[in-house]
Amino acid sequence: MSALQSVSPSSASVAEEARAILARLGVPDSAFAPTGRPALSPITGEVIAHVRETTPEEAKAAIGRADAAFKAWRTIPAPKRGEFIRLLGEELRAAKDDLGRLVTLEAGKIVSEGLGEVQEMIDICDFAVGLSRQLYGLTIATERADHRMMETWHPLGVCGVISAFNFPVAVWSWNAALALVCGDSVVWKPSEKTLLTALATQAIVERAAKRYGGVPEGLCEVLLGGREIGEILVDDHRVPVLSATGSTAMGRQVGPKLAQRFARAILELGGNNAAIVAPSADLDLALRGIAFAAMGTAGQRCTTLRRLFVHDSVYDQLVPRLVKVYGSVKIGDPREQGTLVGPLIDKAAFEGMERALDEARTAGGKVHGGGRYTDVAADGLYVRPALVEMPKQTGPVLRETFAPILYVMRYTDFDEVIEQHNAVGAGLSSSIFTLNMREAEAFISVTGSDCGIANVNIGPSGAEIGGAFGGEKETGGGRESGSDSWKAYMRRATNTINYGNTLPLAQGVKFDVGA
Ligand code: NAD
Repeated sequence: MSALQSVSPSSASVAEEARAILARLGVPDSAFAPTGRPALSPITGEVIAHVRETTPEEAKAAIGRADAAFKAWRTIPAPKRGEFIRLLGEELRAAKDDLGRLVTLEAGKIVSEGLGEVQEMIDICDFAVGLSRQLYGLTIATERADHRMMETWHPLGVCGVISAFNFPVAVWSWNAALALVCGDSVVWKPSEKTLLTALATQAIVERAAKRYGGVPEGLCEVLLGGREIGEILVDDHRVPVLSATGSTAMGRQVGPKLAQRFARAILELGGNNAAIVAPSADLDLALRGIAFAAMGTAGQRCTTLRRLFVHDSVYDQLVPRLVKVYGSVKIGDPREQGTLVGPLIDKAAFEGMERALDEARTAGGKVHGGGRYTDVAADGLYVRPALVEMPKQTGPVLRETFAPILYVMRYTDFDEVIEQHNAVGAGLSSSIFTLNMREAEAFISVTGSDCGIANVNIGPSGAEIGGAFGGEKETGGGRESGSDSWKAYMRRATNTINYGNTLPLAQGVKFDVGA
């Protein structure tokens, strides 16, 4: 591995370049084994390395170490815990180019999105450092004389994190940065499709820990493997809070198990996000917003725009322009400058896209684009993004297909389109393009979008870390990242203190034992 450190990225194959990055970031040789799980690049389909997987026994031991680490970490004052995250942010800044590039090589994101993902990690670290001095509770008026009532927030325990392939490192950081300043330890089960970025992140964490000088052993653990390893984390009673990001199908398995043992679940599941283009919309702006939200990350974002409702009066102006953009967008090797749409993650994703397009055709949809795109030097699974004009919201439109398909439908009535907008299982992200103040406000009001994210004049994807992130209904209801999401990683105690010499009972209850 270390012999590859001298490889020049411009001339190297994907595998050589990735291995050089792993070596530079300090991932030890012991992380790899010839019999390990192959880590593939979707850019070329080649195997980058074979990663040694965590055994069930090792997973349980890691959770045990994290539990012991929690017991020490919770006693460190929160601002001092924040210092560790400050150092982690510094290490991430130093490693941004390498880690961002590795995200491109392993997840297939275009270069600016790979770097953007690491920037998101840095941003959440900055946020968490500030948060470490703001973990506040309330003082609440009490009905009893000479009493004080307040709430105190305490660390909760081991925080499990299960993450999806499409945000291989940022999702970990949204959870871990908060959990760690809150006083929890963290055990991470990354996607089996993105083991290398997880190893690289762990090496960066270890550097920050070394500089901090004395984080408890086991504070940040990583379990590498498939869903069986994830299940161990889900089932372990030493893990009181678990954040699981992935498909709704995964959430349906994980959610009930956590509920069964009364663990706290932060579920971040699938989306079927929509946008409405109203008669007054700025169509140039809408076009750009739609293109990024629907085709960015090759349609593999949880917030990807999948359903578009266009008012009848502007449909014939907007949709032909969109079809043109779909036909001219640069598809290809995500390492190349100018590429906007990189590869799909794997064959299953490609087959899922083909199936959905077949169903859409059967349901009367008119498909523009779609199909395999072979004009790329690399061997990965590249597709033409598809725009499908649908007569109505039926069949595949009602579910998430994790690929670049945008279903477009006409509407005439605002109330009806809101009803259509909300008539799907998922409830993650949404947007409206309008210059009409009444429509904009109605869309984000109680009777408007039922999603966790509702935007005006920007697309549904590309959230920043300051807001709470997550969605309703089949998206799982969890919230991560900014605002007061930190509360999910702590337990709240309500304290009532009597500083008087009588014992008045609440609600005027009398219980005089005559002592
Ligand atoms: P996936 O559901 O296949 O896998 C996600 C993770 O869950 C992986 O680490 C996997 O090993 C693990 N897993 C699967 N079944 C499990 C089980 N029974 N017990 C424990 N762990 C289990 O998802 P994916 O294909 O990696 O990612 C794409 C999906 O994730 C899409 O549906 C997308 O919308 C969703 N996603 C949601 C968000 C969000 O914040 N809402 C963010 C990113 C991705």
